[in-house]
Amino acid sequence: MAGESLIPVLEKRKLNMAVTTPVDGKLFTLEQELAFEHERNPWEAQAARFDLAARKLNLDEGIWKVLRYPTREIIVHIPVQMDNGSIEVFTGYRVQHSQARGPAKGGIRYSPDVSLDEVRALASWMTWKCAVVNIPFGGAKGGVICDPRNMSQGELERMTRRYTAELIEFIGPEKDVPAPDMNTNEQTMAWIMDTYSMHMRQTSTAVVTGKPVNIGGSRGRKEATGRGISVCCDEALKHLGLTVEGCRVIIQGFGNVGSNAAKILYHKGYTIIGIAEFDGALVNLDGIDIPGLIEHRAKAGTINGFAKAEACDRAELLTRECEILIPAATENVITSRNAADLRCRILCEGANGPTTTLADDMLEAKGIFVIPDILANAGGVTASYFEWVQDRMGYFWTELEVNQRLDAIMCDSFKDVVSYGDTHKVNNRIAAYMLAIDRVAYTTKQRGMYA
Ligand code: GLU
Repeated sequence: MAGESLIPVLEKRKLNMAVTTPVDGKLFTLEQELAFEHERNPWEAQAARFDLAARKLNLDEGIWKVLRYPTREIIVHIPVQMDNGSIEVFTGYRVQHSQARGPAKGGIRYSPDVSLDEVRALASWMTWKCAVVNIPFGGAKGGVICDPRNMSQGELERMTRRYTAELIEFIGPEKDVPAPDMNTNEQTMAWIMDTYSMHMRQTSTAVVTGKPVNIGGSRGRKEATGRGISVCCDEALKHLGLTVEGCRVIIQGFGNVGSNAAKILYHKGYTIIGIAEFDGALVNLDGIDIPGLIEHRAKAGTINGFAKAEACDRAELLTRECEILIPAATENVITSRNAADLRCRILCEGANGPTTTLADDMLEAKGIFVIPDILANAGGVTASYFEWVQDRMGYFWTELEVNQRLDAIMCDSFKDVVSYGDTHKVNNRIAAYMLAIDRVAYTTKQRGMYA
């Protein structure tokens, strides 16, 4: 199943390129590069943690096999008429890992880096994430290989609608419920909802979550992942006997997750000393004015050039001293190549899969308190669950109701994971996997194998 991500290194070998590659000023041999490709394969990372947790749970061998692989993997080739009249064909995926606990649930991402192994891993993570916060969903993920930054709104709309049409019999409120992820948003969800509704000949709002509020979206959904992260930070400080006062935070990523986490933490009194984005990074040891930065970014289109902070190196920022480091962008940000240099007390994983398995061991040796992705960023899918419930009832809650229910679930889940880890003498990541796998395995066994 793996292998796809090896292509870049194998290509280099075929092309007889240099056997060493400079990364951050260091040189690596081709063998080291090959090992690094494996380290960064999200599917391998997911499977390694799954195997470890399953072994510790003494999981039944048959159930192990059932839960280790996705139940369905759909590959579609999406023809799109581009604005200049030419036709482009995009490859898209939807992987459904499990529907044991309810309809499959998970976002759709648009990126040139999407691969089947990545979508597989993300789909499995959704199963574990929904089980950690104990909401009645399985896990799925979708992705389309494209470069949304270089596509017009019209091209994105046509691609989204055709992708939806290709998946029409596999998605639905009781089957598989997509949501936003990297480079997709409320508008993307509105197009999916509309396309699905047109095919069904009825308005079907509960087919996706993360929609605009006026067409069945939930209040508080957009901020929910950031809000969940802030609750995890509050709980981690309490657990470690630290206070919000003087708590320095560095956030990598200033998209929907990172910027909302920054805003909420700022208003709770945390000192955000650093923000890193794909095109630059900022630091201010006295604390960055986050509302000011959000305003600047809205005008300038970038965080760069913000007057009340200094520009700094993106990679170096991650290794600065702070209480909480929040990777909130993409996979493989903390690897065997920088984990030893980290100087945070708490690593709160806003992104999915930001830490590699090799880095896990290094962080544990350093005593860093990790709030694993399948707990830390579960606020988003929890609010998605609220949206799905509201759509099916046709009755909508106030933002306060959404936030109160979200805070309660995040707080309880944090405590569940930490106490599970204490009881079983495992770190937080393995505790979260064990808790989740145990819940999914129980339901899978209870439903039995349909032959
Ligand atoms: N894409 C988000 C995640 O990775 C949200 C998924 C959802 O709401 O279904 O958790």
